Amino acid sequence: MIMTFHFSKRVPADGTDAVGAILKAAADPKVISFAGGLPAPELFPVEGMKKATDKVYEEHGREALQYGAAAGVTELRQLILKRVAEKEGVHANLENVMVTTGSEQAIDLVGKAFVNPGDTVLVEDPTYLCALDVFRSYGAKFVGVPMDEDGMRMDALEDALKAHPEAKLVYTVPNFQNPTGRTMPADRRKKFAELAAKYDVPVLEDNPYGDIRFAGQHVPSVKSFDKTGHVFYMSTFSKILAPGFRLGWLVADPEVVKKLTVLKQSADLHTDNLVQYVVAEFFKENDVDAHVKEISALYGKRKQLMVEGLQKYFPKSVKYTNPEGGMFLWVTVPGVDDTVALFKECLKHNVAFVPGDPFFAGKPQPGTFRLNYSNMAEDKIQVGLKQLGAALDEALNK
Ligand code: PMP
Repeated sequence: MIMTFHFSKRVPADGTDAVGAILKAAADPKVISFAGGLPAPELFPVEGMKKATDKVYEEHGREALQYGAAAGVTELRQLILKRVAEKEGVHANLENVMVTTGSEQAIDLVGKAFVNPGDTVLVEDPTYLCALDVFRSYGAKFVGVPMDEDGMRMDALEDALKAHPEAKLVYTVPNFQNPTGRTMPADRRKKFAELAAKYDVPVLEDNPYGDIRFAGQHVPSVKSFDKTGHVFYMSTFSKILAPGFRLGWLVADPEVVKKLTVLKQSADLHTDNLVQYVVAEFFKENDVDAHVKEISALYGKRKQLMVEGLQKYFPKSVKYTNPEGGMFLWVTVPGVDDTVALFKECLKHNVAFVPGDPFFAGKPQPGTFRLNYSNMAEDKIQVGLKQLGAALDEALNK
């Protein structure tokens, strides 16, 4: 008898990997694709990492190749604590920090620890689609909280918290949000921490892009306003060094870190030890802030070219965000009912984006899509935007 696979409810049904299908279609070499979400590989510090790896093998080879602690290598956790104190005004101790296998794992562990099937999770609408996938896999029901140009609206969050006192978690990306590129100002973040305490609900603050700022002023983290332990702060080395390492972290109340560490142990015992030692060593020998400035400058240049292309080639009715950092901007084309059909039209013009639909927890806003500028050479940004503008003109005038 042929095997019938009875997957658990956590496994997405066939055909739900819409984004996978889009990225596959966009991967045709003829297509200029703004669909992906990758950092610029030309700035990966390959030589520095090679040197750091050699040094780790010489000095800690046996520890680096041995099993390690689920919470992570102490030296790296200390480095993370120093960084979050300097950069984010988050003052914490070793018991507050754990290393994760990419920051994606921090989202997964928080989902696993806080969300039972049927529980409510509040999210920005739209939000990072892989976070939606994680929470969905634990059976979450979403309530999308409306945003404006300054990110999640705090009046709307308070309304949602009043309407959903049962909410288990609020998830937010306050800096250069994926997918919109929007950033939340400091007064909102302060209010956010106050609301979390008032309504006694945990907030997962996801900050992969905060360091990649090319304009404007740094804004303190939501966590820096947290006096009650309601905010869990997470970030990653993926955007400032390299994503292939899969190295992220979470800073939270010790009780939370302890529980998540137990769950992490069941997931993967611990994050790759060698990589943790290598990154700690890399920080000793290199000026990481100077490196981050270089990344930010390149992305800033690319974002500027994209905005110029949008001004030059797009119909005047089109709206778009103009981020001060990160890797994405968000486009809204009025008069479009079916964004996936628009994507298919644009693909015929050999240019691609990610349609907005999968980023929405609730009803998708038609005519929205995400453009990535970090992973595209400058000349191609110009050509691609021209093609995209022509494709939109044609689609709108059909
Ligand atoms: N959060 C957000 C908002 C992201 O955009 C990403 C990466 N695309 C991640 C988390 C996960 O990143 P990583 O696992 O590489 O740290």
